[in-house]
Amino acid sequence: MKSYDVAIIGSGPGGYVAAIRCAQLGMKTAIIEKYSTLGGTCLNVGCIPSKALLDSSHHYEDAVKHFEEHGIDIPGDIKVNLEQMIARKQSVVDQTTGGIDFLMKKNNIDVYQGLGSFKDATHILISGEETTEIEAKNTIIATGSKPSTLPFIKLDKERVITSTEALKLKEIPKHLIVIGGGVIGLELGQVYKRLGAEVSVVEFMDRILPTMDSGVSKELNKVLKKQKFKINTSHKVKSVERVGDEVIVKADNKKGEEVTFTGDYVLVSVGRHAYTEGLNLEAAGVKLTERGKVEVNEHLQTSASNIYAIGDVIKGAMLAHKSEEEGVFVAETLAGQKPHIDYNLIPGVVYTWPEVASVGKTEEQLKEAGVAYKTGQFPMRALGRSRASMDLDGFVKILADKTTDEILGVHMVGARAADMIAEAVVAMEYRASAEDVSRMSHAHPTFTEAIKEAALAATDNRALHI
Ligand code: FAD
Repeated sequence: MKSYDVAIIGSGPGGYVAAIRCAQLGMKTAIIEKYSTLGGTCLNVGCIPSKALLDSSHHYEDAVKHFEEHGIDIPGDIKVNLEQMIARKQSVVDQTTGGIDFLMKKNNIDVYQGLGSFKDATHILISGEETTEIEAKNTIIATGSKPSTLPFIKLDKERVITSTEALKLKEIPKHLIVIGGGVIGLELGQVYKRLGAEVSVVEFMDRILPTMDSGVSKELNKVLKKQKFKINTSHKVKSVERVGDEVIVKADNKKGEEVTFTGDYVLVSVGRHAYTEGLNLEAAGVKLTERGKVEVNEHLQTSASNIYAIGDVIKGAMLAHKSEEEGVFVAETLAGQKPHIDYNLIPGVVYTWPEVASVGKTEEQLKEAGVAYKTGQFPMRALGRSRASMDLDGFVKILADKTTDEILGVHMVGARAADMIAEAVVAMEYRASAEDVSRMSHAHPTFTEAIKEAALAATDNRALHI
């Protein structure tokens, strides 16, 4: 039987990054993955394929709607070749997951394909083509999450689908009903909207992106309505029925009236839940929380002292970069180091266009905590860069402490917000004040000038270009 310093169950961004860092720190490392490709949800059916389709559909929309204005004439009709679009997405996924194979080899990490389950706290059975047993001094559970549904919905994976199927449809829906106005529903909804589908979003809460700052959700709502999304907030879905090639979704609106949506596909994007099936956690003495997540302490250690857990399977934001940070954190903890993660500075991004990005506290959170704060906001449309590319929607909003001027939260909607948020993370990591950022030179013309202008606005209303 092979013995390891550390075994990692699950090869998503949490697991494979943990494996690399463990190997870098000199530990004999094994990684176990039940699927034939490494990379987990993010690389196979999450972050990467969704961004590939968002990019392809964005090109199509630009060609149809904007090329003419830019002075680019295309003779003949512009058509979508969905098969090719999905094939390109798959080749991006294949290249990316292949890259993880390379990284595992480069770092001398043993890869086992099969379902990992605990025999006891130091032995793992791997059921693949045959069953293998390994011994591990320490184990990191990185088994991620799966799409959630509502108890009365029967996912047939053909027309009543989750994000996984939405990434490989064979036709463009005529009318896609999206249940859940969170990140995944809006991103995939926008892919098919751009390709010509009618898209109706049905959201239980009173706004889309309900966990983000209400200012950004209001702005994105406005922009999506301009893009002809049908957004129905405060709608409680109560049934989903498939009749032939039709799907019928019934919901109660705010007034308690029944509303019926009829379409040809329904995307159920109501969140994700921790995935621990088949792990046989009891045999290792690993406890779950009431919500079915693996329980961990501040060192990400489970109730079994040599077993740790990271990523979507534990509490906190379900984001790839959060999982990665936790992977490094546990590896360094095992090596005797004292790593630290500032969970307040994990940025959240929505890759619609315009993009939405956020870090730190929202206005709602500051109000609830009774923190006195000031706001500086700057609209993207006032930037020369935005006019040059016709990306006029959105704003940057900076929330700073009323007394000390320390930046407490940054929220933005706009072109390239996903990349711009990194500036806010750096500023907040170094506990910058709004004035610090307002006095830094930002290249002109760039979208990041909106960050400087919002910082100027937050410090005595000094914005220059509005
Ligand atoms: P996962 O990536 O879920 O990996 C877990 C792995 O463990 C899987 O490969 C699974 O097969 C394996 N596994 C489970 N049980 C066992 C077992 N018993 N034995 C062996 N293997 C097992 N996040 C972002 O930050 N940015 C984005 O843009 C983004 N876009 C997304 C888009 C979509 C459509 C979806 C669905 C998710 C998106 N996410 C995004 C979320 C992101 O994918 C997850 O937060 C991330 O993958 C979590 O990483 P993880 O390592 O914790 O788990």
